[in-house]
Amino acid sequence: MATGKINVSVENIFPLIKKFLYSDHEIFLRELVSNGTDATLKLKHLISIGEAKVEYGNPIIEVKVDKEGKKIHIIDQGLGMTADEVEKYINQVAFSGAEEFLDKYKDSAKDSGIIGHFGLGFYSAFMVAEKVEIITKSYKDEPAAHWTCDGSPEFTLGPADKTSRGTEIILHIAEDSLEFLDDSKISGLLNKYNKFMPIPIKFGTRTETLPKPEDAPEDYVNETVETDNIINNPNPAWTKQPSELSDEDYKNFYRELYPMQFEEPLFHIHLNVDYPFNLTGILYFPKLGNDMQIQKDKIQLYQNQVYVTDNVEGIVPEFLTMLKGVIDSPDIPLNVSRSGLQADGAVKKISNYITRKVADKLKALFNENRADFEAKWNDIKIVLEYGMLSEEKFYEKAGAFVLYPTVDDKYFTLDELKEKLKENQTDKDGKLVVLYAGNKDAQHSYIEAAKDKGYEVLLLDSPIISHLIQKIENDNSGLTFVRVDSDHIDNLIKKEENTISKLSDDEKAALKTSLEAYIPKAYSVQLEAMDSQAAPFIITQPEFMRRMKEMSQTGGGGMFGMGNMPEMYNLVVNTNSDLASSILNTEDKTHQEHLVKQALDLAKLSQNLLKGEALTAFVKRSFEMIK
Ligand code: ADP
Repeated sequence: MATGKINVSVENIFPLIKKFLYSDHEIFLRELVSNGTDATLKLKHLISIGEAKVEYGNPIIEVKVDKEGKKIHIIDQGLGMTADEVEKYINQVAFSGAEEFLDKYKDSAKDSGIIGHFGLGFYSAFMVAEKVEIITKSYKDEPAAHWTCDGSPEFTLGPADKTSRGTEIILHIAEDSLEFLDDSKISGLLNKYNKFMPIPIKFGTRTETLPKPEDAPEDYVNETVETDNIINNPNPAWTKQPSELSDEDYKNFYRELYPMQFEEPLFHIHLNVDYPFNLTGILYFPKLGNDMQIQKDKIQLYQNQVYVTDNVEGIVPEFLTMLKGVIDSPDIPLNVSRSGLQADGAVKKISNYITRKVADKLKALFNENRADFEAKWNDIKIVLEYGMLSEEKFYEKAGAFVLYPTVDDKYFTLDELKEKLKENQTDKDGKLVVLYAGNKDAQHSYIEAAKDKGYEVLLLDSPIISHLIQKIENDNSGLTFVRVDSDHIDNLIKKEENTISKLSDDEKAALKTSLEAYIPKAYSVQLEAMDSQAAPFIITQPEFMRRMKEMSQTGGGGMFGMGNMPEMYNLVVNTNSDLASSILNTEDKTHQEHLVKQALDLAKLSQNLLKGEALTAFVKRSFEMIK
């Protein structure tokens, strides 16, 4: 039996490691199972090139919990180590690796993005164990070795009587880590980190009921057998070629990834590239609706089938973090901070690649089956609109598939929309006017009025739509967007013939004075000669002010710090309406005031502006009137 002292400069780095990696103790299992997987794959490789002349068989990795003995065993059937190799790889490589890790990263431990993603390797065993044993037998014809270490730099190294090839790691769990002796804890961790690792992982056994034989007697009791409980799928869908997979396979894999998710994904995108970087994966578009927040952090990042994190910020373009699925790439540096990631050239390329792939897929879906794409539009639009706002590259491609639906469920691309608008929606300056509604119910009367005039009205109801409209207008100088309840639409759209006004200029001036006497300052009164059947009072908001206000509420776009913008409204009064004449011709001032206030309240009501006390007063007053 040899004993020795491991050559590390810090006398005892174990307590340090424990302390710095406090929140990530659980990664020890991932690291040790990964080592077992590596050892097995290395053996496979050596056999394939004729270097190792042994039988590969069907190797598995086994994890065992010994509650009474307070031990966890991780057993692989990989290439194993000779005593010399233990000396070299464990005493030197693993320990110097750990030391280097500490030197480099202890100061950035607070930057929680990195710790735990970066493999500490074998050494992480000491985060949960007070003593670690390695019993290992190399595939080479050499005796097995037994190494022990209690966390101090002293170790022992002697022979062992293990005869089968491979390595067994025994962790003597420390008093403060006894939670890891819980079966459900371990199976939870295996499920989180090792669910798709390439070598089968056994944890315990399962009882399987055998099928009843044909000639079974009446009182037959089903036979059962104990089989290995394999917790992982070593060949997950993303490691296969798209040509090998059916739509059903993709859906099944989605269910495997999100067992608690009952809704099916809308469609998938298979990522597969090996130059200039390696990346595979499958992204899914879930049904999103209008909610941008709750869906984040559903994409899982793997490296060679080992789970790393579900925070892919900086790797996947932000607008796509609302998707679900898996990305696997050995080329993503994990030992850097989030900001470092964003500055990394390779990562930037990966992010651009993903954007391009997603855009290409959307375009293909649109071209293959437009009706289906339209049907899904409501569930995907938020991602696409956000993408147009945040990724210039995506914006450039969006013309080919982004849709603009009308309130009547027609769908236009921007080019198609422009063609349509040319027919009768141009303003005095020759710009194409896109009329849109943000809410079909709230703006119902305005939508109807616009449709009566033969205008096409879009339904643009995403929370970020005002930002996007702004961007499209800046980009397409020939377009101007106007919400149906904005500055009266007839001002913007070229009219063939103005309706003749029933009132003379003097009468109009008198009407305006009467109105302004009773109308609050926030409203600017505007007289218009319209069809006598049109609503007498209409409230509109200046498009620009309303949009700026919305943009400052939804954030971004450099709109911060605009504070509370004042409410500003126009009151458009139809001078050809009977009500306008009545107001003008009423001698009794009190009665005139009543007419104006009641009409204003009605206009407010149809714009959803009448609330609280004012609404109560209005209802009360209205009942009085019909008594
Ligand atoms: P890394 O795996 O990143 O190289 P580790 O600290 O995890 O670093 O392990 C150090 C070395 O110890 C490995 O490179 C490998 O040569 C050896 N080793 C660790 N675990 C095993 C194992 N289960 N079987 C064979 N060799 C192993």
